[in-house]
Order: sequence, then structure tokens, then C-alpha cells
Amino acid sequence: MATTARTYRTEAIIVRRTDFGEADRIVTLYTAAYGKVRAVARGVRRPRSKLGGSLELFSHTEAQLARGRDLDIITQAEIVRAYHHLRDDLWRTSLACYAAELIDRLNEVRQPNPPLFMLLRDTLGYLDEGGSAEALVMRRFEAQLLGLLGYLPELYRCTACSERLQPGRLYYSEASGGALCSDCGPGQQRARPVSVRAIKTLRLLAQKSLDYTTRLQVGAATAVEVEELLQASVTYILERRPRAAEFLGRLKADGLAPAAVRSR
Ligand SMILES: [Zn+2]
Repeated sequence: MATTARTYRTEAIIVRRTDFGEADRIVTLYTAAYGKVRAVARGVRRPRSKLGGSLELFSHTEAQLARGRDLDIITQAEIVRAYHHLRDDLWRTSLACYAAELIDRLNEVRQPNPPLFMLLRDTLGYLDEGGSAEALVMRRFEAQLLGLLGYLPELYRCTACSERLQPGRLYYSEASGGALCSDCGPGQQRARPVSVRAIKTLRLLAQKSLDYTTRLQVGAATAVEVEELLQASVTYILERRPRAAEFLGRLKADGLAPAAVRSR
């Protein structure tokens, strides 16, 4: 598919929408073929718009777009998967919002990354199917997203002295880009002690399939550690905490997270 054609088709997941003008919407799509694309959906807020339902947040669509000067124009969109079940559940919807926000904020426009499209699609698919390993699946999403964009924390060698990490006392610093050995850790900015088990779990999450991840047995303390390390790295790279992460934190505090998450 030549990118110079006036119109093009691609599979896409809607990661952001903003109302625009009287009846239009600016839609950010994460596409399989072209990466992030910003486009306008004309008249989409009119009741009888043909585009309407296929451009909901997170919807997986097959879209046809026309090249515009600033923004492309969505001319057709057909639903591939609407993720209806996930929308019935506030916690899962919020996790999906978080995934969409990270995709939107960590990608520049038109940097194709097909594996990243598949990662997002499969993560939303899992949330929609209602499996109970959603916390680990989200950690895998974060780790593999960072990996696919070249931000994966170093998990095998000390980020200060480059020595291979040995079992024992380890540290982690998002500012230094990953793990630190027992000699270097104490002297580094933002370094915190971290268990060998958390580092090993992170290595697996960064590499393994969704299926493998859902069968992984991770203790509650390690799960909390892994979540904190990834959150620290994501926040450091974005230079602020994701908005959806704040909201997930509020849901937890208000007792609106699933029991398994609350009890941590
Ligand atoms: Zn070191």
C-alpha cells in the first residue's frame, strides 16, 4: 500500500477523541500500518452519521482515510471488534483508557510499529474476555510497550558499572534506566532496593506471550513491586503520571477495584 495514495485503508484502534466544531470529532487512531494517525470524522456527532458507532474509544475498526493537509479525513469505518464486555465494567474500561493514553502519548505520528498495534489489540481483547489475570496482562502491556519503543529498563546488567547482575541485593532506578548492582545502587539518584524476584518477573513480562503471562504465578508482594517499578519508569519517561493512572488510583482508594487488587 503506497503511502502517497490519496486514500488508504488500515485496521485501527481509536485511542483518543475530541469534539471539534459543531458535529465533528478529531480522532486519534493507532493504525496497524502507519502507527499513530490524527484524523477528522466529519459530522460524526449527528444522530444519523454512518461513522458513529465505529469510532468509539478503543473500538477496533477497519478505516478508510483520505489524506488531508493537516489532518486526514475518515471517510469510512467498519467495526472489527467493539469490546462490548469491557465497556460494562468500570475497572476494565479504566485499564483500557490507561493503555490508550500510553499509546497516544508515547508515540509520534506516523511511526509504524505493527507489533505495538497487536500488543494493544490483544491486551484489549483480554480485558474484554474478562480473564482474571488482568493486572499481570497490564504489566506485560507496559513492559512490552516500553520495549517496542526502545525504553525498556535494563534488567540484566547494572546500569552504572555494566556488570552482569548477581543474585543478592539489587536496586532499581528509573532515572538511571533500570537495575543497579549492590555496589552502585546506594549512590544512585532515585535508586530503591528491589527483589531478585521482581527483576525476574519483569524479564518474563517483557518477553513472553499473553498466554504465558496469564498462567504466571506471581506473589502479591512481587506484583506490587513490579507495578511500582513499571509505573515509576512510565512516569519518568512521560515526565508526568498518566491521567488514567490517577483515576485508577482513585478507584482503588474508593474500593471500586476488584477484590484481588484491593487486598494488596
Ligand atoms: Zn554496578
